[in-house]
Amino acid sequence: MNVEHLKTDILILGTGGAGLFAALHAHKANPDLDITIVSKGLLGKCGCTRMVQGGYNVALNPGDSVERHFMDTIEGGKWLPHQALAWTLVSTAIERIHELENEIGCFFDRNADGTLHGKAFAGQTFDRTVHKGDLTGIEIINRLMEQVWARAAIRRLEEHRAVALIPATDGTLAGALLIDVRSGEFRFVSAQAVLLATGGGPTMYRYHTPSGDKSMDGLAMALRLGLPLRDMEMVQFHPTGLLAGPDTRMTGTVLEEGLRGSGGHLLDGAQRRFMGDYDPKLERATRDVVSRAIDAEMRAGRTTRNGGVYIKMSHLGPERVAKEFKGMVDRCRDCGFDLAGGLVEVVPTAHYFMGGVICEVNTATVQPGLFVAGEDASGMHGANRLGGNGVANSTVFGGIAGDVMPRWIATEKPGHRDPDPQVLGVELVRALHPFGQKSGDLNAVREKLLNVMWDDVGVVRDRAGLQRGLAGIDAIEAELLATGVADAGRHFNVTWHDWLNLRSLTEISRVIAHAALKRENSRGAHFRSDFPEPGDLATSWFTVARQTPGGIDIGLEPVVFTHVKPGETLLRDQAAAE
Ligand SMILES: Cc1cc2nc3c(=O)[nH]c(=O)nc-3n(C[C@H](O)[C@H](O)[C@H](O)COP(=O)(O)OP(=O)(O)OC[C@H]3O[C@@H](n4cnc5c(N)ncnc54)[C@H](O)[C@@H]3O)c2cc1C
Repeated sequence: MNVEHLKTDILILGTGGAGLFAALHAHKANPDLDITIVSKGLLGKCGCTRMVQGGYNVALNPGDSVERHFMDTIEGGKWLPHQALAWTLVSTAIERIHELENEIGCFFDRNADGTLHGKAFAGQTFDRTVHKGDLTGIEIINRLMEQVWARAAIRRLEEHRAVALIPATDGTLAGALLIDVRSGEFRFVSAQAVLLATGGGPTMYRYHTPSGDKSMDGLAMALRLGLPLRDMEMVQFHPTGLLAGPDTRMTGTVLEEGLRGSGGHLLDGAQRRFMGDYDPKLERATRDVVSRAIDAEMRAGRTTRNGGVYIKMSHLGPERVAKEFKGMVDRCRDCGFDLAGGLVEVVPTAHYFMGGVICEVNTATVQPGLFVAGEDASGMHGANRLGGNGVANSTVFGGIAGDVMPRWIATEKPGHRDPDPQVLGVELVRALHPFGQKSGDLNAVREKLLNVMWDDVGVVRDRAGLQRGLAGIDAIEAELLATGVADAGRHFNVTWHDWLNLRSLTEISRVIAHAALKRENSRGAHFRSDFPEPGDLATSWFTVARQTPGGIDIGLEPVVFTHVKPGETLLRDQAAAE
């Protein structure tokens, strides 16, 4: 098998907010280093950072504080976050937003006095979500893309898919195996340091929001390399995915949090406002609570024509809604709904993955030379990510990775290592597997996975369902392995890449189900109807998944409360009042 070998100093897998920030920071830290960014799609056009709608959480206003943002993050995460990571996220977001404005060139919406406008987002005690209308991600990713284009020294491998992280024979990291999607050829890139920033993406659920290029590849690669993964049961469901009817990929796409934050109402099929039955914060409760409430309405059969519930904005004034939520109004209109003046059908939709690779505050993993940032990393959000903390997370830690990797190379002097030929060979065979099989109906396999994950490993879980889900995933994997791709050509073979997507999704689905089975309590995004209580907060633990020869092992490790303990607060005024 012909494999072209390339060499770079820093290899960045993924070109979302995390990957691009890392590239810019690494280039600034040491312009002499050779940096290569790899993207499954086209630069600036793929991944979820471009899809960010609502905005970016940052404590800028004098009435707000880093401590308040931190407490919201910890309480939203149900005391499971790694507190040092969460603190780094909220404190560095301030520096990063100034950088986005003043160095990267983003324009965000402003108040009349010139300060940045912060919009309301559910689950937060302060309106701190900085935004550009309701299509913030396009502004961020376009400006980042231009900055990267302007630096010729940053090499771009677009439409290249990473399929494996490859060690050297001594166990150190040698680099990554890629497929050039256009030609179908394999490339091995040898690197001194590698950043995993492929952005997670729970696209294995019937309704989901992330971009189609995201299929948990990064986590599947990390798992195979032997890395521990944290909080894998924590899949965030956004309460308001558009329900545009069957057979359209618009179904599942998210209608942003600001709709509920600014006063939108949720109504059942009979147009009754129902959130009062579930939470005193009504529609402004956190995503997990609202998703479960909608799920309960759906299970009780109180649904709309297409099987969801309604969101209603018209009581806020159609003109105001059309002005403040132009992107959402346009999107709904494209699908035949009037968001500003009428009712829109919505359904919970898999949105974000809190689980991921375990890392330090400096983005280092247990594998020397491998760093992780963005949605592939874990710990910052615990059991629930606050809306607006996702893009802050990817830009904050992407930037940190870009600062750290050049320093790590300078001090550790790892050099370039040859890939272990045996591992490389196994990975090539694995990637080419479907060409050796009889072609079959890949879409039918995908539908089965979407349904099993939605029905048995979804918004509300229990032991029997999770065990059924695990059996279903095993059967789906067996069917996938027996299903080939019809076209034997490798160049731009999207069916082959669909097959590879499904392989990653199936593997990570299994880990999610195992971790969900292990967590016999309900925290944040993870709800077990057979264990509805959250468990003792003071002795909170998180799950750690590892691949072993026998399958997936789920361990439990205690949460260390480095900054604040359950029952305490960092907010002085609140502490004094209590
Ligand atoms: C519709 C939507 C709206 C959102 N709105 C908000 C919001 O308002 N506020 C907020 O904070 N967060 C929001 N989020 C979440 C936010 O988008 C993510 O948290 C964040 O953008 C993730 O950044 P990232 O860099 O980790 O990944 P991404 O931006 O998703 O980038 C991942 C990159 O990895 C590449 N990739 C994937 N697999 C491979 C592979 N095998 N090989 C090579 N490259 C690969 C992709 O092509 C892409 O370039 C939203 C998400 C969605 C889907």
